[in-house]
Amino acid sequence: MAETERKTAVVTGASRGIGLAIAKRLAKNGYNVAMVASSAPEKNEDAVNEVKAYGVDAKAYQCDVADFDKVGETVAQIMEDFGGIYILVNNAGITRDGLMLKMTEENFDSVISVNLKGTFNFIKHCTPVMMKKREGRVVNISSIVGLQGNAGQVNYSASKAGIIGMTKSCAREFASRNITFNAVAPGFVETSMTAVLTDKQKEGLFELIPLKRYGQPEDIAGAVSFLCSDDASYITGQVLSVDGGMHM
Ligand code: NAP
Repeated sequence: MAETERKTAVVTGASRGIGLAIAKRLAKNGYNVAMVASSAPEKNEDAVNEVKAYGVDAKAYQCDVADFDKVGETVAQIMEDFGGIYILVNNAGITRDGLMLKMTEENFDSVISVNLKGTFNFIKHCTPVMMKKREGRVVNISSIVGLQGNAGQVNYSASKAGIIGMTKSCAREFASRNITFNAVAPGFVETSMTAVLTDKQKEGLFELIPLKRYGQPEDIAGAVSFLCSDDASYITGQVLSVDGGMHM
């Protein structure tokens, strides 16, 4: 299909939480949205309808971001459905927490595969499309723990620090093609990912937030929206902390 006057954004992990907030914000900005999740599209009909409510086109794609070939097929399908890709937001992520001494190889591998290799997979398959048009915006969702580490999250913090290195290297490689790469590093955001923490853990984290409120998915979506806007056209290779001042 030929690209319509609306440009298209691909958002991974768009079925809920931060990814869904990003999808809705980009839809509000006028982009069509390809919403990727590992769950079946039938499960994500409500999320798709929330995005479509902004008057754009949206579609759910079932794809494990860790599966290189499946990501290739999914990007090809998105191209067929929407005709182009201007924005890529690598947001899909998982945690498998545990202290280093107890962390299993499987829990290390699965977090690296989804968070870090999943980001590589989508960049690998989307950038040829962007290069042809000589324009594109990539925003990778890192984390405060990728900047400062966290006990119990060796796998997750390594994946998120890796995303920062990947972002900066890609920023250098693709700058001449007018494709920017930036990362957003959220602090504590209220989603299903953090709902598993105990009240005591949450209270402890609250003490570390200078702005004295927990982050909301919309706080992250606002930063992504800015990095995809014309106002950010001269920004690449940066990590934007959105954490109420936790990391400074
Ligand atoms: P969440 O509520 O658990 O949502 C995760 C999303 O990723 C879901 O849409 C999930 O959909 C998708 N996903 C998981 N594994 C996938 C896979 N293998 N392939 C495709 N999609 C997959 O998490 P969140 O809190 O919104 O987090 C979003 C991002 O922000 C993550 O990268 C996370 O590391 C980062 N982050 C979050 C916080 C926080 O405090 N919440 C802080 C810093 C960074 P399905 O289950 O349907 O696949």
